[in-house]
Amino acid sequence: MNPSPSVIIILADGARPDVLAAALQSGELPALARLRTEGGLHTITTAFPSVTGPAYAPFLTGKHPGSVGLPGLRWYDRARAACGWPSYARSYIGPQCLLLDDDLALDAETMFELAASSIGALSVIRRGLPQSRRIGSGAAFLARTTITHFRGNVSGWLNIDRNIGNTFVRRVRDEHPQFAFAAFTGIDKASHAFGHDSPMVHEAMQVVDDVCSRLRKDAEHAGSWGSTHLWVVSDHGHSRVTMHEDLAGFVASLGFKVVAHPWIVRPGAQVAVAVSGNAMAHIYTGLESRTRRFWPALAERWGDAADALISRESVDVMMLPLSESSCEVRARGRGHAVVSWSDSQYAYHPVSGDPFGTGERDYMSEADAFDATIHSCYPDAIVQVARLSSCARSGDIILSAAREWDFRARYEPIRHVSSHGALHREHMLVPLLTNKPISGTARRTVDVMASACTVLGLSPAQVEGTPFI
Ligand SMILES: [Zn+2]
Repeated sequence: MNPSPSVIIILADGARPDVLAAALQSGELPALARLRTEGGLHTITTAFPSVTGPAYAPFLTGKHPGSVGLPGLRWYDRARAACGWPSYARSYIGPQCLLLDDDLALDAETMFELAASSIGALSVIRRGLPQSRRIGSGAAFLARTTITHFRGNVSGWLNIDRNIGNTFVRRVRDEHPQFAFAAFTGIDKASHAFGHDSPMVHEAMQVVDDVCSRLRKDAEHAGSWGSTHLWVVSDHGHSRVTMHEDLAGFVASLGFKVVAHPWIVRPGAQVAVAVSGNAMAHIYTGLESRTRRFWPALAERWGDAADALISRESVDVMMLPLSESSCEVRARGRGHAVVSWSDSQYAYHPVSGDPFGTGERDYMSEADAFDATIHSCYPDAIVQVARLSSCARSGDIILSAAREWDFRARYEPIRHVSSHGALHREHMLVPLLTNKPISGTARRTVDVMASACTVLGLSPAQVEGTPFI
């Protein structure tokens, strides 16, 4: 018997709200459909970049990725403070995923640090989670997942999900943690390989359904279902990709010495290209400088390169940080605007065009900025641009790919027909399925941790979300 409240977050990595809703309707996910009936299914926005790793930060730190020092799945350490010689580059694919906790801003508090007891399965953010409370970690597990990744073995990922699910269900039942988090990556892997509505995506959703069914049964049996908050969420969507830009190759063709994964050591390199997802990228210019510089001062040396990039068919939106509190946004063929922000207010000023299509907007709260964009092609783009541009580790040029495109033509082990990472709607909208009705408005994935803290009576020093409970 466990009458005190608990929160279980199931992260169905890569699940799209429309695909999930259709599957619930068709009856193939009975446990999740029951949650929707008794609680609710909401569509919220993830964080930019909409990519696994950074986009886990809202659920586990209550902050946007840029606010906790995770600007991308790959990034370049201009300051040479976090990443070591000789590359000064980071990629959370492979063994460097173990370094993500060290990269997290020191003042970021994780749910694992705040909760009295917790369990985390396949979480890339683990700060505060004792080794004994981690499921799917350790060298042997990492080796297995790395091999599965580089072989592009999607059914291997689904088996990993099943195994993780079995252990997670057993440990939640036996240990009754106050907070439990489990990530299931099968939907994402299947989407990349076969498309976001492929049969294997549905098979991966059924793994999640089965886990939720068993969590519920156990909690009902223990008499704790009434005090259990079970939330199923996702960290990004997916959309079809048919064309792959060799972004690093293109920047090199402009006459620059470029470093990009996997070839990250190159003496005398001038530009670093760091792709995430693969539909977004950070480009770092003038690598000899260890301090961040802003536009338009960069224009003299790098302006032509920026012009060349925005004219590429693969580029949809380009962001050029102007200061600690403003960023130029250019859209290919649709002119440019300036996003500016202070602690709690946002503004959007069209200059030569209106890339986000909202018209002039001033003095917006975070909620206003959300409402201004949620029905557009770029949901929550104003706040997301502000948060990522604010990150000292972000590139001098930030790109969001055009539909059907991504930015990594070479060195991808998995054949991929679908991508994510960008600002557009298909990547930014994610589901939030709750087992009880919510009383407030669920907008962003940062609201999830804020709500978990409310349920559990925890008081984090600062979160960027607003509770929906
Ligand atoms: Zn992915």
